[in-house]
Amino acid sequence: MSICSLRVMKKRLLTVVLLAALVACGDSAPTGTAITNVTVIDAVNGVRENQTVIFDGDEITAIQPADVEIAVNEIVDGGGKFLIPGLWDFHVHLTYDDRFTESMPAVFLSYGITSVRDTGGLMHKVLPVVEEMRADNAIAPRVFFAGPLLDGNFVVYDGDGRPEIGVQNQTPDDARETIAILKERGVDFIKIYEMVSPAVFEAMVEAANELDLPIDSHVPLSMRASTAGPLVDSIEHLRNIEMDCASNSPELHETRLERLKNAEGLSGADLRSSLHTLQRLPSIRNYDEERCDQTLQALSATTQVPTLRLVSMSYAPPYLREDWQEALSRLPPEAAGPWREFTEERKANIPADVDTTYADWGLFLTGRAHAAGVPIGAGTDTPIAFAVPGYSLHSELEFLVRAGLTPLEALQSATVRPAEYFSLQNEMGSIDVGKKADMVLLNANPLEDISNTKSVSAVISKGRLMTKSDLDGLVENNKSL
Ligand SMILES: [Zn+2]
Repeated sequence: MSICSLRVMKKRLLTVVLLAALVACGDSAPTGTAITNVTVIDAVNGVRENQTVIFDGDEITAIQPADVEIAVNEIVDGGGKFLIPGLWDFHVHLTYDDRFTESMPAVFLSYGITSVRDTGGLMHKVLPVVEEMRADNAIAPRVFFAGPLLDGNFVVYDGDGRPEIGVQNQTPDDARETIAILKERGVDFIKIYEMVSPAVFEAMVEAANELDLPIDSHVPLSMRASTAGPLVDSIEHLRNIEMDCASNSPELHETRLERLKNAEGLSGADLRSSLHTLQRLPSIRNYDEERCDQTLQALSATTQVPTLRLVSMSYAPPYLREDWQEALSRLPPEAAGPWREFTEERKANIPADVDTTYADWGLFLTGRAHAAGVPIGAGTDTPIAFAVPGYSLHSELEFLVRAGLTPLEALQSATVRPAEYFSLQNEMGSIDVGKKADMVLLNANPLEDISNTKSVSAVISKGRLMTKSDLDGLVENNKSL
């Protein structure tokens, strides 16, 4: 066979030899990158050993047994390593705290997070960040965003003592107008918040459906989870579901409706927290299995994003973990410094007995929901409550396994489920030919121990290969922005 007819090469040959030969023959050089001898793991295909995965630009172009010949211009030895789809953090706030915003894309990538869903930020703040992350050649995760929290007559996140990320919708007409504007400005979904009335909620659902926008929501305090849940595509934090699982849920609902008239004139935030204080723990104490089965059945097509790393945090606070300091070191000093100080103080004053009722409930309900076939999504609320971007997603995966998901199901919650939410399951979520080139190469097997998802060897984001040292450099550069 003459060198000019050579179209394929054994992977052990030097790529440059082939390139030179093909260029000399006036042929175009092979393109693409191959990860060879790797174990491929995803929630669609399970485990595939001894594979070569080739990607070219932002597309996976071949998956084949490792001994099949290949023609590429770059080879990564995946021997002894594990390749999983790029991870999602399905609940982030890019603009919640300005000290984090600039550094978040790089820190996410360094932990293998290649897609994020921003679940609340005012448009004038979040839109420029989204545009920057989506610019050609931007080194950043894919981003999907909702714009502001769509709140009701009272607004929880109104900028008074907490960030301003919510907007008021007093009437159904307000709601329709807000959503039409958001759609025009390019949001990927909407986020309904806790203080909306049933009429405003219904108008929001109707408007979003008409405009083909997926709906994310908290269960509004004016409604019950089994009524509101089936009308939306995802629910966050398991919030207010406990009230629908209680034996006295109809009475609890009546009480809430009365209190929501807000005779005392409380702020949105105070009104909400007064209702949580009044009903959350009593609801858990009044847990009724049969009623909760009905609730979970009503939620069977609504992705639950339990954010267990937040809800059940008392079991494994980030600042008590051995790799917490290393995680903090990836953040800019103005973000890491105050957290380091605050958490050192906390560590020194940990109370002897922490009430874990709510933490237990979160784990329990997630396990039950999963067993009942409710789809589970992995999100963290970063950077709220000491959630280092990216790092917190790995904590969430650990919590999901603790709640009863297998490691592969936990991976599904951070890959396939988010893709399905945006109807992108044909483009993302698994390692298949034709899908986007978002992948994470791990040094250790995540199915043996889910915390091995942190053993990042390389990340492929939108077809860009970044080794561990590339990622470290990226994080360092971003710290000084
Ligand atoms: Zn949030």
